[in-house]
Amino acid sequence: MGKKSRRNRKTGKDATGATATASATATATAASSASSGTNQCFHGSTADKFQPNSEYAKAAQGYLEMRDQVDLLNNQDGSRAQQEIAIETIYFEDHKYLCTDPEFYRFIFAFCIKQYLASNNFKDQLRRQVIQYLLLLGLRCRYSATPDKLTKYLRDIETERGMIKFLVRETATYCDCMNEGKGIAKKMDKIAICHGCQKEFPKATLLICTGCQYVRYHSRECQINHRPIHKDKCNSLRSRSEAKV
Ligand SMILES: [Zn+2]
Ligand SMILES: [Zn+2]
Ligand SMILES: [Zn+2]
Repeated sequence: MGKKSRRNRKTGKDATGATATASATATATAASSASSGTNQCFHGSTADKFQPNSEYAKAAQGYLEMRDQVDLLNNQDGSRAQQEIAIETIYFEDHKYLCTDPEFYRFIFAFCIKQYLASNNFKDQLRRQVIQYLLLLGLRCRYSATPDKLTKYLRDIETERGMIKFLVRETATYCDCMNEGKGIAKKMDKIAICHGCQKEFPKATLLICTGCQYVRYHSRECQINHRPIHKDKCNSLRSRSEAKV
């Protein structure tokens, strides 16, 4: 086991012959946080969950590998959104039993805090990516029974401010490790991403897609240009908030 974590840390850049991946970064963090220090905080979860060979850590790792796989899909191809949904569905079918286990999403959020604290407020881009991916996983498990909240929080975590605030809310009853982050988030403007040009704008100035009530645009032009890419996702987001995940 120790051998495995060392290998992953060292081969973070070429585990699949590609560049450093989110899943490799997460493995390294899990290994180091499980072995270092005796008096550290586990943010509402427990040390055994952080062992790289624990069921929870493996499921998180599996999710990140799935996301890495999705990232390799051809961006230009119109079928990308459908392929993504198909790959995700397989993961959630395979992990149904974990998804309904509150200990599991508590671990996911705790793991995100570990990554956040090590990321120097998201300056480490790989850790930022790990957090964003794992929040998607944790959210879908935690809020699958409340689609309205799920949709709202999925949108919130698109920004760094939103990710911090979400983690603060989920873990404030366990520890105050996110206090510094909370202060940082307060200073950030209320910003959101335009899905067309991918730039950040004051949230209040953005238009919202009337189809899914989820994605935002800074102009009509951005919305129209993005429509062909967004169409499939729009339908799936709508059915996700109408039915359940
Ligand atoms: Zn803590
Ligand atoms: Zn735009
Ligand atoms: Zn839409």
